[in-house]
Amino acid sequence: MSDRTVAELSRSLAQGEISSVELTRDYLDRIAQHNSLYNAYITVTEDLALAQAAQADAARAKGDAGPLTGIPIAHKDIFCMKDVLTTCGSKMLANFVAPYDATVVAKLNAAGAVTLGKTNMDEFAMGSSNENSFFGAARNPWDTDRVPGGSSGGSATAVAADLCAIATGTDTGGSIRQPAAFCGLTGFKPSYGRISRWGMIAYASSLDQAGPISKSAEDAALMMNVMAGPDHRDSTSVDMPAPDFTANLNDSLQGLRIGVVRQHLAEGLDANVESALQDAIKVFESLGASIKEIDLPNSHLSVSAYYVIAPAEASANLSRYDGVRFGYRCENPANLEDMYKRSRSEGFGNEVKRRILVGTYALSAGYYDAYYIKAQQIRRLIKQDYIDAFKEVDVIIGPTTPNTAFKIGEKNDDPVTMYLEDIYTVSINLAGLPAISIPAGSSKSADGKSLPIGIQLVGSDFAEAKVLNIAHQFQQHTDWHQQRPEG
Ligand code: GLN
Repeated sequence: MSDRTVAELSRSLAQGEISSVELTRDYLDRIAQHNSLYNAYITVTEDLALAQAAQADAARAKGDAGPLTGIPIAHKDIFCMKDVLTTCGSKMLANFVAPYDATVVAKLNAAGAVTLGKTNMDEFAMGSSNENSFFGAARNPWDTDRVPGGSSGGSATAVAADLCAIATGTDTGGSIRQPAAFCGLTGFKPSYGRISRWGMIAYASSLDQAGPISKSAEDAALMMNVMAGPDHRDSTSVDMPAPDFTANLNDSLQGLRIGVVRQHLAEGLDANVESALQDAIKVFESLGASIKEIDLPNSHLSVSAYYVIAPAEASANLSRYDGVRFGYRCENPANLEDMYKRSRSEGFGNEVKRRILVGTYALSAGYYDAYYIKAQQIRRLIKQDYIDAFKEVDVIIGPTTPNTAFKIGEKNDDPVTMYLEDIYTVSINLAGLPAISIPAGSSKSADGKSLPIGIQLVGSDFAEAKVLNIAHQFQQHTDWHQQRPEG
């Protein structure tokens, strides 16, 4: 049963075909058997999971069950979970047990979901391959020599390898969508502010947003119904009640206007990704949508702007890890300054240090105007491009990634090549828009492995329900999302 969607499992639980305790044991057994290969989990919360599963079964027996009651899920290890190790993929927090639950965790607990554990990730969510984790790379279930993508690589690996039914992720510049694309999954980044960031360890606060990594758009909608909504503890969460994200899944796409970005096609996409995109466009046309070419004239500036703004915010957010209040502290510091320096030098990995250096530089007097302010101006232009585009179309379609999953180690010593992985995703975070990556094709690697291809649908501000509707309709008429890795 572990290969089923949340929607299917929910029906099986409701019909009494299986109990949550049985289902949870099934996943825990699979984790015990396979996690050493995939390295998807940093922490497995077995006792908690079995207790939550028993509670879920009891609630259901009393007639008190919602769609997620008893469903085994996993959380990216960026979400604080009370009394559970919360590492953010870093040596800095390798001993940090959170004293409270993130809002996302609390909401999923209250909905009766069962938490199997905390998933692997790039350190402080900085990366596109999960190779920046202090706990080692996770492995892509489609080809274990390849990366699952990042930074929510452990969550994607866990869902794709059937080590949980659905998982949370976070997306600052693509970290939900890119690993979903690499692992043949559905990854949904909501609009900025739709889900509370409270208790979600900050990387770049104006870009970070939580969301689900799932086996279908329908599952993403079920998860969104629990995760979304205002939170007085996060002043950037929008003060607007969340709609029922499942209500419009079956709306017709007749008359839908889909934009294709002229700049994407001109850039010389990977041939397999381009043909998956063209095939997807044909599916949408057959469902009654019309296609229009649109311009995002500043899209070529998005990676440069992102890699100034995100490190700038990160350098400020990460100043709290000083060896004093929580996390790693060096041995035998000679004095206060030595403690700060060595705790940070020893506690952070190379990519995190690189971002802190870049960010501090961009924010320092003399460079602030040249880099940080410029990047913010570009951010505004990018937002305006999207505002203009959405006057002409309802949704924008494009590739999620420039290529399929790459080999572990292939790009690791070249940060700029790694940053270019994010070319199709970061502008959406800069603009704060909702976007989903859905499986739409596959290509064969040189050694004969099938590797999934994802395409991305971008909506206007807070048009999550529309984006999920379009993705769901695509999945009703294609079976890419049902393809599973071998073994
Ligand atoms: N790859 C991007 C980065 O390293 C995005 C990461 C993310 O979305 N958390 O910053």
